[in-house]
Amino acid sequence: MHEANELKRTNRGYDRVLSSMCTYPHPVAVRAHMKYIHTNLGDPNLFPEIAAFERRAISILGGFLGAADAVGYITSGGTESNIQAVRASKIISSTRQPNIIVPESAHQSFEKAQAFTGVEVRQASLDERYAVDVTAVEELVDEDTVCVVGIAGTTALGVIDPIPALAKVALENDAFLHVDAAFGGFVIPFLEKKYPFDFDVEGVRSIAIDPHKMGLSTIPSGGLVFKRAADFDALSTNTFYSVERSMTGTRGGASVAATLAVLEHLGAEGYRNVVRECMRLTNLCVEEAAEFGVYPVIPPVMNIVAFKLPRLQLLALRLIARGWRISVMGGALRIIIMPHINETTILDFMHDLKELVRG
Ligand code: PLP
Repeated sequence: MHEANELKRTNRGYDRVLSSMCTYPHPVAVRAHMKYIHTNLGDPNLFPEIAAFERRAISILGGFLGAADAVGYITSGGTESNIQAVRASKIISSTRQPNIIVPESAHQSFEKAQAFTGVEVRQASLDERYAVDVTAVEELVDEDTVCVVGIAGTTALGVIDPIPALAKVALENDAFLHVDAAFGGFVIPFLEKKYPFDFDVEGVRSIAIDPHKMGLSTIPSGGLVFKRAADFDALSTNTFYSVERSMTGTRGGASVAATLAVLEHLGAEGYRNVVRECMRLTNLCVEEAAEFGVYPVIPPVMNIVAFKLPRLQLLALRLIARGWRISVMGGALRIIIMPHINETTILDFMHDLKELVRG
């Protein structure tokens, strides 16, 4: 008990955390989570209410993504969603030596997908804007390509790949197009500027969208959404009590209830307000940094900023020593302006960054 209390003391909140794609869940989500903490979706017949919650949550997610009649399930997060989408594309195809094409900027979950599913993962290079180079994708595609992957909000920079151009390549080659919007799925639909990235783009077959990131739900809650029921059904395994399309057997129902609760509570308007504030603070970061001669690698598309900085490793260590949690990625200092960050935190951080850059 003493040890547990000690650990609790060292367990930090998110207050100075600029490296995380997760945040404090909304209180409405926490309440629903606690209420359904005992539930298990491993056997949906035991908890039909939660199974209905899941269908409703997927329909709302589908609505945000241009297809309210979409199907899918609440996964453990973006990693499971990506692996399962790749698995579905492999099952649907008839090829014996399947490959998939992912951008060089893809999350490491696709490396895991290769290990789990046996598909070969081919990496396409990026263009000068750090989006996938569609010509490079075309050069890698062949008759054994079962899936093309586009990222809508890359982990390092928040870049949105050219999804319509990727969809064209996928359609021409009879391949699946999976969009990894694990982070961007709860940002892009609510930005002022519109980007084509979802089921409105013909050829997009599945999307990963994580409620436990910008969706303000509890961990673990990812979303895997398919436009066609047949693609989702490809994941079916018969159990003696039902048909399972998830990766795991036992699955917590609590975060499903939490996800539905926060989706219904905030609605599109609520998320638009969350994203508006995160973008205001993101732009403030860029303006403040410019005052002392520090600039981002690309103008931020979403609430992720990566700064080009001299003596990066040393600077990062000094920021960590001052209590900040930041990431060094692709030769830049990456910060994510999540809903737990407020203006005071940004100004404090910029003050420290300025001192260290000048110092
Ligand atoms: N996809 C993208 C674009 C991500 O940024 C991440 C996590 O950072 C993931 C997938 C994996 O998500 P999770 O950590 O929930 O498995």
